[in-house]
Amino acid sequence: MKRWEEHVRKVVPYTPGEQPNCQGMIKLNTNENPYPPAPGVQKALEELTPESFRLYPDPAASELVNALAEYYGKDRDRFFVGVGSDDVIAMAFQTFFNSETPILFPDISYSFYSVWAELFGVPYRCPALDEEFRLVKEDYFAENGGIIFPNPNAPTGLYLGLEAVEEIVANNPDSVVIVDEAYVDFAGPSAMELVDRYDNLLVVQTFSKSRSMAGLRIGFAYGQPQLIRYLNDVKYSFNSYTMNLPSLKLGAAALKDRAYFEHTVEKIKATRERVKKELAALGFHFPDSGSNFIFASHETCPARELFEALKKENIYVRYFASPRISNYLRITVGTDDEMDALLEFLKSYLNKK
Ligand code: PMP
Repeated sequence: MKRWEEHVRKVVPYTPGEQPNCQGMIKLNTNENPYPPAPGVQKALEELTPESFRLYPDPAASELVNALAEYYGKDRDRFFVGVGSDDVIAMAFQTFFNSETPILFPDISYSFYSVWAELFGVPYRCPALDEEFRLVKEDYFAENGGIIFPNPNAPTGLYLGLEAVEEIVANNPDSVVIVDEAYVDFAGPSAMELVDRYDNLLVVQTFSKSRSMAGLRIGFAYGQPQLIRYLNDVKYSFNSYTMNLPSLKLGAAALKDRAYFEHTVEKIKATRERVKKELAALGFHFPDSGSNFIFASHETCPARELFEALKKENIYVRYFASPRISNYLRITVGTDDEMDALLEFLKSYLNKK
């Protein structure tokens, strides 16, 4: 090792899902939306000119923040925006998880949490989900330096009812509780409705899934103004211009079309429910997903084998070689045609065995 390497911050990075670019592939591995963004996004894109890139964007991201405030009928000072919810959550880790007492998140959840905790030197503890991958709310009543969990959980897809979420928030008045709602639009009510009553609750959402804009990188947090002020103080101490101009304009345009959004989400939910039935008939079992993916395990065929076989067929799903979940595949809900191709292949592959 060279001398200077002794002082390098060494981390084990998060591994994002593959982004292969093969002709005719069926991409069900990173929970993207198979449908295009709202038509208004195309119009807003056409209005952008190279000249508009000459100046710095608005550091307060007002156009997008105002659009969110209008969409949700809430005050502007309750919203914070970032470069995908990854950026928002990373910023929230730096802002709110600053205690010697370990923060808590489930043993099976978004694998980026432990990466941020390591990067920022935040101690953490991971209570185990139960045998059926359900979060045990009482585990989060113990002393802690903060709490974060996805709802629905990833990669299991299980949605935790708002009553349980509220109990966790109410039992932790001395720490900030972050609910990562990347997939909530496919599930049930958002914890946003609890924010009026809890000054320690931060809800994080994204435009990457239900709004079909993973490529633009837009995420946001919703909380009481005091939390949002603290987040902004850290953001302005790090990078004033996190949001680029196209993201501000196109993100705001996407929010104008509520009907398109609701229609797309309903289509994905309908496909998901159909695919659940068909997977079950093929011998798969899975937690009852409330998200745009299904976390499935086959009764006889190992997940890793299926993952490789699907990949040879140009069908990409996600496989995690991690404890407790190494016999599961996380399958994004694509279009009906894509899911039919997946089911067709699984049927013939499993039949030949
Ligand atoms: N939270 C969860 C639970 C996720 O699965 C993802 C997607 N990888 C994210 C946050 C981050 O999504 P994005 O940065 O695209 O908003």
